[in-house]
Amino acid sequence: MFENLSERLERSFKILKGEGKITEINVAETLKDVRRALLEADVNFKVAKQFTDEVKSKAMGQNVINAIKPGELMVKIVHDELARLMGGETAQVNLSGNPTVILMSGLQGSGKTTFSGKLARKLKSEQGKRPLLVACDVYRPAAIDQLKVLAEQINVPVYTEDGNKNPVEIAENAIRHAKANHLDLVIIDTAGRLAVDEQMMQEIAAIKKAVKPQETLFVVDSMTGQDAVNTAKEFNDRLDFDGVVLTKLDGDTRGGAALSIRTVVTKPIKFVGTGEKLDALDLFHPSRMADRILGMGDIVSLVEKAQNAYDEKQARELQRKIAKNQFNFNDFLQQIQQIQKMGNLKELASMIPGVGKAIKDVDIDDNAFKGIEAIIRSMTEQERQHPEIINGSRRKRIAKGSGTDIQEVNRLIKQFEEARKMMKAVTGIKNPMALMRGMK
Ligand code: GDP
Repeated sequence: MFENLSERLERSFKILKGEGKITEINVAETLKDVRRALLEADVNFKVAKQFTDEVKSKAMGQNVINAIKPGELMVKIVHDELARLMGGETAQVNLSGNPTVILMSGLQGSGKTTFSGKLARKLKSEQGKRPLLVACDVYRPAAIDQLKVLAEQINVPVYTEDGNKNPVEIAENAIRHAKANHLDLVIIDTAGRLAVDEQMMQEIAAIKKAVKPQETLFVVDSMTGQDAVNTAKEFNDRLDFDGVVLTKLDGDTRGGAALSIRTVVTKPIKFVGTGEKLDALDLFHPSRMADRILGMGDIVSLVEKAQNAYDEKQARELQRKIAKNQFNFNDFLQQIQQIQKMGNLKELASMIPGVGKAIKDVDIDDNAFKGIEAIIRSMTEQERQHPEIINGSRRKRIAKGSGTDIQEVNRLIKQFEEARKMMKAVTGIKNPMALMRGMK
């Protein structure tokens, strides 16, 4: 995401790179380019103007110390201003109330239902909440079924009322149901329309008035560019929502919506959706997003993802095994699964400073691990623990069982042996991730 904007901004800063100091003229020139880059990234023109005016006044007021080059100083000013524009601090979700009631709003297809499932999953696993998902779309039976399917995947109950066409009643009954069943989080998914529509607005407003949610969230597809900003404004005028969820930031979006919405509706972006899978949900961190826009990577988020995926105890056990040269195919499989838990590979790689742009057009196949997994799963327990017994006929059997071919099996075993040798040489290695890199 944002690659185009990062590239454009980088080019604008080049103007300043050769300059000894910041002057009215070179700043004006740089900012003209920055403004164009923002507009091209679909940033609202008023927001872009306000942004560059702000950057200009900050830049001109700076005493350039000799140690800092004007280009670098400009990057810093633009970075801070981008972060400020996107809300500054990371916004929190209000989880008070028993049950906490969270109401979803947004157009059809924005990702409301998917996000409802993602949020339930996140709050259940990270905060021990007991969620109830409520289907208030009384027009599209398919939407109710979709919520049921999601709920089943994350093992969360769903509240529906077949035949009841009154969403306000359904929402109220759902909250009673939650109280009676000691469920402490009620997430209400409402009906969307393809475009802003009076009846839809009235309906959500009526639900809001009746259930008084702690949070009303507006879900919007970031791929819709300027439309996202206009829709946000209309929903906010009617619902006075508490926060924004930007979905589909994994797609080929120009990112302008993230920059503009906050300024236009003065409501914080609270979450971003980065994929169709239920774990593809992140809190929105303005400063990190600014890093990403400027191509500085997002190493903090990457480290956090790794911390979440890695279990301390397991990591220590792994170190012990490596030290004793007992690392086997079971451990190897576990490592692969942990990396997959961290999410989409390209998304992960793009968080590394400088890498995002470099791999923009490269296809990284998340299925690359599937073949390796299949091979290991076709090994017997004995073979996994003692890879040295895997002879020619065993290799043939494994290839057949895993639907791969003998060359692939040979390659994996060879890589595994080399990695083991390497591990033996560097026993005491602290970071299992570093090992994996040697194996791919
Ligand atoms: P709703 O009509 O607002 O409830 O939207 P849905 O939840 O049904 O989502 C519409 C489509 O967008 C579905 O195909 C989802 O899988 C997809 N979707 C939702 N969130 C994301 C996301 O963050 N990234 C991607 N790539 N797809 C998403």
